[in-house]
Amino acid sequence: MADVPALLRALPRVDEVLAHQRLTAISQEAPRALCRQAARAAVEEARSLLLRGDPPAGLTLDAIAARAAQILRRRLRPHLSRAINATGIVLHTGLGRAPFSSSAQAALAEVAAGYCNLQADLETGQRMPRESHVHWLFQELTGAEATLVVNNNAAATVLVLNTLAAGKEVIVSRGEMVEIGGSFRLPEIIALAGCRLVEVGCTNRTHLRDYENGITPETAVLLAVHQSNYRIEGFTSQVEIGELAALARARGLICVHDLGSGALVDLAGYGLPREPTVPDSLAAGAEVVLFSGDKLLGGPQCGVILGNEDALAAMRRNPFYRAFRVGKLTLSVLEATLRLFLEPESLPKKHGLMALLLCSPEAIRERAEALAREAQSRGGGWLRAEVQEGESEVGGGSLAGHSLPTTVVALRSDRVSSGELARLLRLSEPPIFARVHRDRVVLDPRTVLPDEDATILAALARMGADLQDQ
Ligand SMILES: *Cc1c(COP(=O)(O)O)cnc(C)c1O
Repeated sequence: MADVPALLRALPRVDEVLAHQRLTAISQEAPRALCRQAARAAVEEARSLLLRGDPPAGLTLDAIAARAAQILRRRLRPHLSRAINATGIVLHTGLGRAPFSSSAQAALAEVAAGYCNLQADLETGQRMPRESHVHWLFQELTGAEATLVVNNNAAATVLVLNTLAAGKEVIVSRGEMVEIGGSFRLPEIIALAGCRLVEVGCTNRTHLRDYENGITPETAVLLAVHQSNYRIEGFTSQVEIGELAALARARGLICVHDLGSGALVDLAGYGLPREPTVPDSLAAGAEVVLFSGDKLLGGPQCGVILGNEDALAAMRRNPFYRAFRVGKLTLSVLEATLRLFLEPESLPKKHGLMALLLCSPEAIRERAEALAREAQSRGGGWLRAEVQEGESEVGGGSLAGHSLPTTVVALRSDRVSSGELARLLRLSEPPIFARVHRDRVVLDPRTVLPDEDATILAALARMGADLQDQ
């Protein structure tokens, strides 16, 4: 039995760890506070290992200092860093959803480098709405009369409903009572906005007369919500947005359409499944349309509200708008992304997200084969890599139920478990995210940007060398 109290007493002090040459070797350029934090974390970690009653062999000053150096090296790198998405989930919320197009990256760097004309009209020098930078584009691309941009589509929903229907009733079909993920559940958002939810119809079928019968003198909004992340199949019926908008107009109400994924162009034209588009919804008569900026639009995280001038002017006066509005970085990326839609024929080449969605299965197969071949030959025997047929997901609550054919690289090793291999990939620099499936680590080249293949191979080679050393 180890004498735990004695071992605890023998633990080095933080100052001893700080003075150890393993730490001083890298701590010259590091802020003093970070060095101390790393030394303290390493000592604390050793203490909790001892208290848990499994004192690891060789818990020496040298080992603790080596661990402190490892913690320090990681803290010296940006905590939020570029990562490689090898999961095959194109809009991966945990990995930041849409990758920016190169023109958007350039616009972002330029605006971030100094001051900008965020709210200043160049002609008059007067104050102007910050959405002016993107409104002219939305007007051209969708016909919208007015534009507001807030932090995300959830914020957009709260702002729209609170402005148009606080203290009043909002009618929604039971087939559209969605949970998007995290804490976005429509009934709760409607309550948060200060409105009363009135559910009509059934899960699989809702008719126009259901909405008609639901209208009372207290009704303010008829809300349609896109079935983003689920499908209702079989004996179904939904009301077209045009019919709902006509009913709203006839009864002096406002028709709001939450489109969720916010397609600006008809994806069917590119061989993908059809999603309702923003211009179609506005043309059909929806007075207010809202959607995310970082789903099919392929832009920054934000929520876009388009529609009728009067309705949006009222939203701009709502204090929630001040709380939810976006900054210059978001608007610069949004503007650059929208400009790409002025030339729809070049989207597959220039739009980062469309390029990933439309990448040909043959091109992906070629990359998967090259990756597998190289990973295996450079690995020195510790790694087995084979190609397999697979499916990429669109993700992010877009094109529900539709997957894209792909070819994946399945890795396994007799030196480490697949869970450990996935962990080592995440801890490499830059981090690489993969899926674990049937005891294999699966890499899908669809979501790996073309210049990242070499980075993955280099990371695997380093891992092989590290394992050899042990
Ligand atoms: C994704 C989605 C939302 C939430 O959008 P965020 O930008 O993630 O806040 C709301 N409604 C629908 C229909 C969605 O698809």
